[in-house]
Amino acid sequence: MKFLKIFCLFILLFTASNLIGDISTKYVFLFIGDGMSISGEFATSLYLYGTDKKLIWNSFPVKFFSTTWSLTSINKSNPDGYDTSSAGLLPYPYYSTELADNYFKNTPPTDSSASATAMSTGYKIQNGVVCIDNNGKSLQNIFDILNKKNIYNTCLITTTLFYSATPASFSSHNISRNNYKEIAEEILSVTKPEIIIGCNEYFYLNDFVKQNGYYIADSIDIKNTLPFYTTDKKIFVTLSNYSVPQPKKMKNNPGFSYKDNALSFSDIVTFATIKLLEKKKPFLAVIEQSDIDSANHDNDYHSMVGSVYELHDAVNSLIKLIQSNQTDMNWQNTLVIVTADHATGMLRFNENLAKGQLPHKMIFAGKNLLKIDRTVKYKSKNHTNELVGLYAIGAGSELFNKYIGLTHKNSQIIDNTDIFKVLKEVTTK
Ligand SMILES: [Zn+2]
Repeated sequence: MKFLKIFCLFILLFTASNLIGDISTKYVFLFIGDGMSISGEFATSLYLYGTDKKLIWNSFPVKFFSTTWSLTSINKSNPDGYDTSSAGLLPYPYYSTELADNYFKNTPPTDSSASATAMSTGYKIQNGVVCIDNNGKSLQNIFDILNKKNIYNTCLITTTLFYSATPASFSSHNISRNNYKEIAEEILSVTKPEIIIGCNEYFYLNDFVKQNGYYIADSIDIKNTLPFYTTDKKIFVTLSNYSVPQPKKMKNNPGFSYKDNALSFSDIVTFATIKLLEKKKPFLAVIEQSDIDSANHDNDYHSMVGSVYELHDAVNSLIKLIQSNQTDMNWQNTLVIVTADHATGMLRFNENLAKGQLPHKMIFAGKNLLKIDRTVKYKSKNHTNELVGLYAIGAGSELFNKYIGLTHKNSQIIDNTDIFKVLKEVTTK
């Protein structure tokens, strides 16, 4: 009898390990720089290294450009979403014409919910909507698919509200991205990602979080007690001590100043990665650095460089962790994707900035502009449909190759809906 029990246990363990063993891509990270344009990436690379294309993802083997347009962008003069005859096959600064700039200024841009829904469901939808199509039909997103299969854990990280458009589009369905309470409740009680880290302005939700089986903590604890807390419970961390560091203006000597006791984005991502690995289950982590977008809306070059640096720093720390051999992660079982949901601000360079160099902040006296720097200029305070970067490394990253040039011949362009196809293929094959 005892032998039979041991035999059954052996069969059970063997089957379970085989289930996991069949999965070649166990760990998937999708990093999204909200509003991160290619020119913003150039700016940050110039500040850090004095030359462009030196951010960590520039060294990834898979490097393409992605469209971001939504159904809201479609009209009579723009029937295809992205018109290469006006916009070009490459984004600024690789391609720069007045025609392209005017095209982007005059074409309705996507918002974060439409572009994140394209990445999470494979469908283009209207702006302002979360995972619902034009006929009011709810669209299955990648978290829904993974929840049904119950092989992968899911994780949501954002530097803004956890129920805001980008994380919401991976974990809820709503006719409006502004129905925050409904979205938050769906995330916590229906989708239930294994780990959630983000801001929360609805304090009543704290009880709701606990009722739905989460261990709840404040991000102040990430540096103190939380790393030692091991639990089978899901984890909800309210982000309270994160703010974008400011770059220091020192020629040839780039650096950032963090507020006292502030976390870096890298601290947050590393914490979540370690907690996810402790759960000994494959996972998909969707990780948004949202402050890039707000900095670009404000045409604030300094904060934009600070927030793109944060994303670069977090991805860099993750790559080091993968290559350290201290965890189960390696390039045969881990996929890292970095992209943006759309570009914001139309940053343009009048001259190249040197390492550590920053434009002056604009100084106003009332409405009078006292100081302006002409090394750079912004042509918009809004989103644009400019192509954004798509970078990938690791297990399954080669799958992006098959989507190249399908929507735009002889180009290096993929569609943002292709990101869903790759996420689905690596997690369900
Ligand atoms: Zn925005």
